[in-house]
Amino acid sequence: MTRLLAAGVDTPLLDANVLLGEVLGVEPARIPLCGERRLTERQARKFNDMIQRRSAREPVAYIVGRQAFVDGSIQTTADILVPRPETETLVEATVAAARELGPRAVIDVGTGSGAVAVALARQLPDVPVIASDVSDAALSVARRNREAWGVASKLRLMRADGLRAVCPRHVVVTANLPYVPAGVLATLEPEVSRWEPRLALDGGPDGLAALRRLMRQCAQTPPLAVLLEVAHDQRLRISALAAAAGFACHAVHRDLAGFARVLDFRPIGAW
Ligand code: GLN
Repeated sequence: MTRLLAAGVDTPLLDANVLLGEVLGVEPARIPLCGERRLTERQARKFNDMIQRRSAREPVAYIVGRQAFVDGSIQTTADILVPRPETETLVEATVAAARELGPRAVIDVGTGSGAVAVALARQLPDVPVIASDVSDAALSVARRNREAWGVASKLRLMRADGLRAVCPRHVVVTANLPYVPAGVLATLEPEVSRWEPRLALDGGPDGLAALRRLMRQCAQTPPLAVLLEVAHDQRLRISALAAAAGFACHAVHRDLAGFARVLDFRPIGAW
């Protein structure tokens, strides 16, 4: 615990508990019920290794290899962005839009671990889900999550940049693309700046490069809706670039912290 505190980890007690639970093979909340118990030498070594990794600010999700998301658990490796609680807002908003619009498919662009796509596939049993990414390493993690969530038959994974290779006609597009301005990356927590894949975070000089590219693709054949996760201060700028592509903001969804986190764009004139 003191090692984690000294390393600047802001939840040292919680993290030490999670890692100890992992070593003991029990839920962290049940550790106090285990009574006095000495760790075996092997367990002590494993725990020590984990604390060392965490002291280097490696995210807990990479150390234990999974992260809770929606109503399940996502397998995580350093090839993908650790699923965030705020991204559950993207799932909820996309489910609502798909139920309202009855698309022929939902497309998750830049799926990474596949977290959004597998949650959508589970919650929208009648709608096919297609998920794409430019990273082969990420797609292999997504493939594992697709199996683990039991949605292999209704989730197609493909290597593609944005909407390329999928016709967006009559679909709902959802995306948590990189949106951090390149210059801001180094100022983020070490868990993010040192460990998470730059490819999943770096949105170019103004943070909007990937979103701009996606909206340009959407301008050609407009989908029924485009739902985007964004940073708390990007709403107006993204609405402007969406307007240039022929879309208007139909709804703003706030995350648990109250930030405008997910924007639901619809083609102008469609509502
Ligand atoms: N929400 C992430 C962060 O805070 C950024 C995710 C992204 O760029 N899509 O670091």
